[in-house]
Amino acid sequence: MKLDDKGILVVLSGPSGVGKGTIRKALFEMEGHDLIYSVSMTTRKMRLGEVEGKDYFFVSREEFEEKIKNGEMLEYAEFVGNYYGTPLKYVKEQLNEGHEVVLEIEIQGATQVKSKMPHAVFIFIAPPSLKALHDRLTSRGTESEELIQKRFDKALNEMHMAYMYDYIVVNDDVHNAAEKIMTIIKAEHARTERTIHGYEKLLEVE
Ligand code: 5GP
Repeated sequence: MKLDDKGILVVLSGPSGVGKGTIRKALFEMEGHDLIYSVSMTTRKMRLGEVEGKDYFFVSREEFEEKIKNGEMLEYAEFVGNYYGTPLKYVKEQLNEGHEVVLEIEIQGATQVKSKMPHAVFIFIAPPSLKALHDRLTSRGTESEELIQKRFDKALNEMHMAYMYDYIVVNDDVHNAAEKIMTIIKAEHARTERTIHGYEKLLEVE
């Protein structure tokens, strides 16, 4: 019997290069899940192998700024020269239909979601070490030295933001991390504040 009928908004965040994207993919490959990924919008150039509407919605700066102006973004951030953001409408619809919605976003965006949707679950993905983080940023091989250094400096600052999250999951192993996240989501469903309404109904005398 299900005591809660609303979906949970799950915010996966953490420094760039920590492996959020890989963990998110592993999470979605797990069997029997009812998770929906909110595809972000960005003004950055498409990388080789990326697909429009699957990895991102790729738009111009003008289009993005128009959407900000019209209040169409749940959150957005400018990250290393490009805009990234979450379209609000889709997230709202899916949550209302009872689906779990997963956002994979950087830290400024997560801070905005925290103030707008405090009942979301905030999970900080941490690297096993700073060296591992630097190695990951370098090995992606898609960016210049200068850009990698910028991302690393930013990531170091972001490591200090973990305290504002509900959970910290270390990415020592992708599948391990994905399983931990799934366990967190399941446990969150049993939280009293999410279930008390359904529980009270259960107590009603027929
Ligand atoms: P990348 O360029 O590597 O795809 O993404 C750069 C950073 O932007 C990553 O940390 C990624 O998680 C973050 N990001 C992706 N989509 C969003 C979004 O919708 N909002 C925010 N705030 N960050 C995002």
